Amino acid sequence: MNHPDTPVLLSEITTRASTQTGVFDMTNPQKISNVLRLVTGDDPDSQDTKTVFCDLHGLYSSRKMTFGSRAEWTGCPACIDDYGKRQVREQEESRQRAKRESLMASAAIPRRFLNRTLQNFETKTPQQERALGVARQYASQFLDTEARGRSLLFCGRAGTGKTHLAVGIAQELLAKDSTVIFTTVMDAIRTVRETYRKDTPLTEREVIRRFTLPDLVILDEVGTQMGTDAEKVTLFDLINARYNAEKSLILISNLGLQEIENYIGERSFDRLRENGGQAVAFAWESYRKTKVDGETQ
Ligand SMILES: [Zn+2]
Repeated sequence: MNHPDTPVLLSEITTRASTQTGVFDMTNPQKISNVLRLVTGDDPDSQDTKTVFCDLHGLYSSRKMTFGSRAEWTGCPACIDDYGKRQVREQEESRQRAKRESLMASAAIPRRFLNRTLQNFETKTPQQERALGVARQYASQFLDTEARGRSLLFCGRAGTGKTHLAVGIAQELLAKDSTVIFTTVMDAIRTVRETYRKDTPLTEREVIRRFTLPDLVILDEVGTQMGTDAEKVTLFDLINARYNAEKSLILISNLGLQEIENYIGERSFDRLRENGGQAVAFAWESYRKTKVDGETQ
């Protein structure tokens, strides 16, 4: 308490001063000095001043103030100012953190992929390097107007890093405050189909509209099971709604390109192709397949 730099002193000053003039903004040095003047003004010992050395800011003039029988010396004004600024900064940082956490939570990235980033994606072959390059470029250009609504298609066998790269892109976008939703096709379809029940307040149209709100939707497990025609219609509705809203999609599938086109239909496939949409074949684990086509289109 007696250390001249102790900002805690200010709280006592403001408490005392506030009975006369209300609340003071700690972040404003002008107001703080007003408080000091005000307090010392009605204090009989206010003329007591001394020059004090602050390790951080050098010499300053400190005033003695008495609170009943106690006497205190005012602290370094620059330190008090720093203290206020630091508090504002910390509040801002904590607000940003809360916002990011909320974006992360609504992105619904599967727990086991939460720590996957573009930075920790390992590449050993030129094809893997190229896939990473596509993902990096996609993330960095995402907010450019000319890349608006651009989609990606990651296809290839399980365990080749498709979800890793898609989540890596999502992380980059979330860090820029974009909104992302990660979902499997089945979950998305189930959500839509739940609206068929009579007791649900949401209509299918509303659910599909919800899928158009995020800046990016990642649809995982495309074609994992043979969809019924009704499911394919729903999937087309989702893809088409994103397309009409000029919003991007990343599709992840274990199928080959042609199979994906057969599964989602030519019209949906064309939607994905629009505006520079790219398909990346994660072909590196299928060595026995002769065709290794790192990127098509
Ligand atoms: Zn200081």
